[in-house]
Formats: sequence, C-alpha cells, structure tokens
Amino acid sequence: MHETGIAEAGIRAALTEMERHGASRILSVTLRIGALAAVDPEAMRFAFEVACGGTPAEGAGLEIENVPAEAWCRYCGIAFTPESVSFFKCPQCGEYSGELRRGREIELARLEMDS
Ligand SMILES: [Zn+2]
Repeated sequence: MHETGIAEAGIRAALTEMERHGASRILSVTLRIGALAAVDPEAMRFAFEVACGGTPAEGAGLEIENVPAEAWCRYCGIAFTPESVSFFKCPQCGEYSGELRRGREIELARLEMDS
C-alpha cells in the first residue's frame, strides 16, 4: 500500500510548513492527486489518519483534490484525456505519441493551521 508512504511524506511536508509559520497545530491538509497516481482515496484517508497520530496534525481533516489526466499530442498540437494508464493514444491521429502533462502528481495543495 503506497498510500502509507505518501501520507507520511505529506505529513512531514505539512509539519515543516507549520514550523515555518510558527503554528502549533494542523487543522486540515489538502492533497492534489493525479488520476493516474494510483492512489486509492479510502486507503489514503486511513493512511493519513495513522500518519497524523501523535503529531501536531492528529485529528486533522484530509481533502483530496483530483487532477484529471491530460496528455499532449506533439503531431496535432492538442491536449486530450488518455483512455489508458500506460498508453496515450491521440484521438485525432491515432499515434501512441502522447506525453503525459498532468495526472501523476501528488502534491501538498493547501494547509490550514491554527494561527
Ligand atoms: Zn495526434
């Protein structure tokens, strides 16, 4: 379950931000997760709760912002939504040439702190 590692890294980043702002508690965390990042939201919530335990983020809420996948065809110069996780086939020319532009990101989008 790679959600555990993502949750731990997310909390670490959140705690670093918290210290930088001189806050003492984290109230909520928003993660931006790409459609192709293979993150299960339920597993993510569970992993997040566990990772928060015993830290200033204990009991914090978790918001998940989904980023739709978007690929780019360099021949047609168009952006499109890939149908498959591994092959980015352009719907216009049919080439498997698409480069993924968005959809694999896992980022800390927002933090709510107590000060
Ligand atoms: Zn194309």
